[in-house]
Parts: sequence; C-alpha cells; structure tokens
Amino acid sequence: TFRAVLISRDEDKNQTVEMTELSPSDLMDGDVDVRVEASTINYKDGLAITGKSPIVRRWPMIPGIDLAGEVIESKNPQWKAGDKVVLNGWGLSETHYGGYAERARVKGEWLVRRPDGFSAKDAMAIGTAGYTAMLSVLALEKAGAKPEHGPVIVSGATGGVGSVAVSLLSKLGWDVIAVTGRSSEHDYLKDLGASEIMDRSELSEKGKPLEKERWAAGVDCVGSHTLVNMLAGTKRHGSIAACGLAQGFDLPATVMPFILRGVSLHGIDSVMAPKELREEAWGRLSEDLAPEKLRAIASEVTFDEVIETAKSLIDGKVRGRVVVNL
Ligand code: NAP
Repeated sequence: TFRAVLISRDEDKNQTVEMTELSPSDLMDGDVDVRVEASTINYKDGLAITGKSPIVRRWPMIPGIDLAGEVIESKNPQWKAGDKVVLNGWGLSETHYGGYAERARVKGEWLVRRPDGFSAKDAMAIGTAGYTAMLSVLALEKAGAKPEHGPVIVSGATGGVGSVAVSLLSKLGWDVIAVTGRSSEHDYLKDLGASEIMDRSELSEKGKPLEKERWAAGVDCVGSHTLVNMLAGTKRHGSIAACGLAQGFDLPATVMPFILRGVSLHGIDSVMAPKELREEAWGRLSEDLAPEKLRAIASEVTFDEVIETAKSLIDGKVRGRVVVNL
C-alpha cells in the first residue's frame, strides 16, 4: 500500500480531505507507474483542497497537479523503469488522480523528462507555477518583446508564478517592476532581481482606458482591474501575458490599448500545453533559472503538512513556492 491525500464528497456535496492508504489496484488507468518523490502546492491545489473553486470533477480525487519521481514500470515504449520524470497539469486533480500520493499511474504522453540539473525537489520547487512563468516569458519573447524596449511588470510578484517570473526576467536582462501587496517582502523581491517595487493598490482599482506608457511587457497573475491597468500602461506594441486570476476572473477592459497602441494580450494555459512547448519551457528553465534563486524562492513541507499548507496559501500566507517531500 501507499499513502495518498483523498478528497471526497457526500450526497450534500460537503467536501472532506484526509490522508489515507491505497493499493496500486485503486489507481486509475494509465500506462506508466511512477514512484512520486516530490510534489508541490500551487494556487489551484489550494482551491481544490479548500473546495473554494470547483477544480475536482471526479470523486473521490487525489489532488496535486504536479509530481516528480521515477518510473517504476511502463507499458509505454517511450519510458522505462528508472527514468526520471516530471508531470504538470493534464487534468491531474481534476479528472485524474494527482501528485499527493506516493504512487501515480499516468499516461506516458503526459510525462516530461526531468532535466539533468534538477533533482525531483528542484523540479517541484519550479512546479506548474514556475513552468507557467516560463511559458509566459516564452510568449513575450515570441511576440518580439526585448529588454531594450523598456521595463517588464510582474503582478502577484511574491506568489509562485510571480517569484519565478521576476527571477527569470531579471536574469534575461529585463528591468523588473514587481507588483505586490506585501510590504514586508520588498527585500525578497529585490534579491530575486526586481529593480522597482509597486504597491498592488496602484493597479487594483478601476483606472483610465489609457495611462502613461510605463512598461514594454508584463506577466499578470491576478486578472481583473490589475490586468486592465497593466494593459493601459503598456508602451506602444508591447505585450502582456495573462496567466492568473488571484484578484478576479473578470476583465473590465476597453479596446483602447489594443487599437491605439497595438498592445497585445497573450493567454497562457499550462494544463493542456503541447508536449513540445513543455519540453522547450523545461529546457529553458534549466538554462535561465539560477539555482540560488530557486533556493531563495522555495520552502519545504512534509507530506503530512500538505492539507494545512494548501489552506494557508489560499489565505495569502505563503511566499514563493512550497515543495512537498514525499
Ligand atoms: P500564489 O502563490 O498564491 O500567488 C498569487 C499571488 O497573487 C499572491 O502571492 C499575491 O501576491 C497576489 N494576490 C493574491 N490575492 C490578490 C488580490 N486580491 N489582488 C491582487 N493580487 C493578489 O499562486 P500561484 O501558484 O503563483 O498562481 C498565481 C495565479 O496564476 C493563480 O490565479 C493561478 O490560478 C494562476 N495559474 C495559472 C496557470 C495557467 O496555466 N494559466 C498556471 C499556474 C497558475 P502579492 O502578495 O505579492 O501581491
């Protein structure tokens, strides 16, 4: 048997979460079995565990959208026992059992080979949040954004996606404006490479359709008025990557930045991103994310602390990334 976190629901749709013991025959269909060495806690994991948003679509469910580990056995020709792998998204914790279990059975196509420089814990210090930060950077680069065009702005900067985005963009030569609501974390953000800190309240209320042009690019983790104000302050022909909704999923915008300044908005989807793009993102993470930055961003919890830590993350009490050591 192996240990797993299980979310269940009764007839009245009341949700309970508990640590339980399962056997391999309880696992869902898949052609590769993985010994999970590490997982992590993302915003979406917090939503699933607290039940704050409807993430889980099949009951009961093992949550955890990410895992890193070693292949135990494989019926898929691409993988063999001993291969070191990472999995992000693909419906884990929604429709397929996820990473909060010592063993997982998944489809071989969902797995990415773990880059040599990363341990299982390093890969989970990055996790979906960090890989989404890299997808956002790739989207900005593919749109032609360059550090010489002006600064880049990152909202939700002390969060998981935000912390990795700040580190990556500063390493790539950008002047980074980090937007945060946490005044106690300015030094943390400067250490990650932020050159300027902006208080979250400057962007969180309704603003004008066009504001002074201040940044050439941006990564937004919070949505709503913040994203709209980021678009309104973007320089001509600049780009913003939208990846999150921590403030809200609404977008109370006007078309003015698009049609008067040629600003573009790029949507980021990590869950169903194609395999080639995942491999590109993980390859770039192994080149562009300094190990000492990753250590500054990540903290570690035991498997037994996962439920309680997921709740604090939703309460905004977790900084950076959390690795779950299985
Ligand atoms: P996280 O660690 O909880 O970070 C979210 C950050 O947003 C917080 O640390 C906080 O930063 C800021 N924030 C929270 N509430 C806010 C509010 N009401 N107004 C403005 N800012 C607020 O979460 P994460 O794992 O980095 O994920 C960030 C977002 O990206 C989430 O919405 C998540 O669902 C989304 N996401 C999307 C994808 C995708 O595929 N598109 C993938 C991963 C994550 P400060 O304290 O610094 O202000």
